[in-house]
Amino acid sequence: MPKKQTDIVLVGAGIMSATLAAMLKELQPDMTVEIFELLDAAAEESSNAWNNAGTGHAALCELNYTPQNPDGSVGIARALTVNTQYDLSQLFWAYMVRKGAMGDPDSFIHNVPHISFVWGDENVTFLRKRYDAMSAHHCFKGMEYSEDPAVLEGWMPLVMQGRDPLQRVAGTRMITGTDVDFGAVTRNLLAYLRSQPGVNVSYSHKVTNLRRTEDGDWSVSVKDEKSGQTRTLFAKTVFLGAGGGALKLLQKSGIEEGKGFGGFPVSGIFLQCDNAELVARHDAKVYGKASVGAPPMSVPHLDSRYVDGKRSMLFGPYAGFSTKFLKHGSVTDLFSSIKPDNIGPMLAVGRTNMDLTKYLVGQVLESKEHKYNALQDYFPSANPDDWKFIVAGQRVQVIMPDQKAGGKLQFGTEVVSSADGSLAAVLGASPGASVAVAVMLDVLGRLYKDKLAGWAPKMTEMIPSYGKSIADDAELCHTVRSYAADVLKLAKIE
Ligand SMILES: Cc1cc2nc3c(=O)[nH]c(=O)nc-3n(C[C@H](O)[C@H](O)[C@H](O)COP(=O)(O)OP(=O)(O)OC[C@H]3O[C@@H](n4cnc5c(N)ncnc54)[C@H](O)[C@@H]3O)c2cc1C
Repeated sequence: MPKKQTDIVLVGAGIMSATLAAMLKELQPDMTVEIFELLDAAAEESSNAWNNAGTGHAALCELNYTPQNPDGSVGIARALTVNTQYDLSQLFWAYMVRKGAMGDPDSFIHNVPHISFVWGDENVTFLRKRYDAMSAHHCFKGMEYSEDPAVLEGWMPLVMQGRDPLQRVAGTRMITGTDVDFGAVTRNLLAYLRSQPGVNVSYSHKVTNLRRTEDGDWSVSVKDEKSGQTRTLFAKTVFLGAGGGALKLLQKSGIEEGKGFGGFPVSGIFLQCDNAELVARHDAKVYGKASVGAPPMSVPHLDSRYVDGKRSMLFGPYAGFSTKFLKHGSVTDLFSSIKPDNIGPMLAVGRTNMDLTKYLVGQVLESKEHKYNALQDYFPSANPDDWKFIVAGQRVQVIMPDQKAGGKLQFGTEVVSSADGSLAAVLGASPGASVAVAVMLDVLGRLYKDKLAGWAPKMTEMIPSYGKSIADDAELCHTVRSYAADVLKLAKIE
């Protein structure tokens, strides 16, 4: 049998692989690309609209990106990074929409104002300081602040009606916030890719093993889940965009850079409401403050959602504990990921994250009644009969080796790659799908270092701010945001 050879194998048909493949085919149209997906369709794990919250994370409303410093001031550096990373996604989507390669923006993105909402003196003081720091920067131009219940009721009637009038409250609002159906983004990109020469997308195909060959290629074993047959193909480059499945494959690859990494799964539950009368009265993503010990992505929020042309509401997430690494995974995932090289970091993380453990145990034991009480903190007159529980996607938080502490738990996204630039994996889940393009630019830099200079003109066509800083250049920020908003049919700040 002749060796089946391809330029790149991408494992998983979620937003990360779809984004990387789409960028690569633009940069080098003759590249041969094989995408393997274990399930029988694209975006059925974390990238599915109902497995995540669909927030276009731009740090407009999520308080975890603006920590309070020991001197009481509020830091906005992390918020600026996330904010401008999200611009890169919108710019790339705008390019693909203009090219006719991504469908109508209505199929995947909508404006939904992003609101931060807090109560109590201490939290109100924090929010005011955060507003002062953020609104002074051009990236957050247009942010509004109010402590007036009447103004806040105009922004979010369901959140304000029935609330104790003596409670001190405050909110900020950005009308440029978005709700994104990341499942639709993924499917739209893959539909286009499948029409391109040299691209194969195989569903119900599980990548079971990876091995370096003597000539430096990767030998990739793939099992057809329907026929049970396994075949091998050879690739110069491998991208592990397997979400919760990436850690196991990284371990199988045996690359030195993957040693010591582990994963800690956190499952999520949302409440969903389809009552049209209520849904029509809420047009916002309202993010509050996290409880003590809660991981940053567990901040409660009440969201308007647009999925498959239908509006609805979501509240959550409630964290849970499951040993699975994928929603469709196995309960043995956590145990089988423990290896001699990561047991030290994993134990160290267990020892030093008692607040998180307590929080998770509390969430798992929480009764349905308590869960509804949490909803009523944000929507005081909510009626449980209007809401149903749905199981969200599985997140695998990254545990990484750390010289000082032995191991550290990481809530962000981590790219791990081999020194020779032949394999890269994306671990972790936050800020997640929103920053897929920024993460893939990092991946491209690691896998195709020598080609980047030659690709720069095309890169600039795809992402007009490529190589420049939107955070440092107010005029550039205004120009590219205006352009992306026009193409994606979104609101803009003049
Ligand atoms: C509860 C929750 C809320 C979130 N909210 C947001 C949000 O509001 N905004 C945001 O931007 N991000 C959010 N995220 C994060 C975001 O969903 C993820 O970062 C993103 O979807 C990850 O995309 P991915 O392509 O890496 O993974 P996935 O979408 O999980 O895709 C990986 C694919 O790989 C496949 N696979 C796994 N192993 C194999 C194998 N061996 N062979 C073949 N295929 C394999 C899987 O079946 C899966 O389809 C949230 C995540 C969760 C869980």
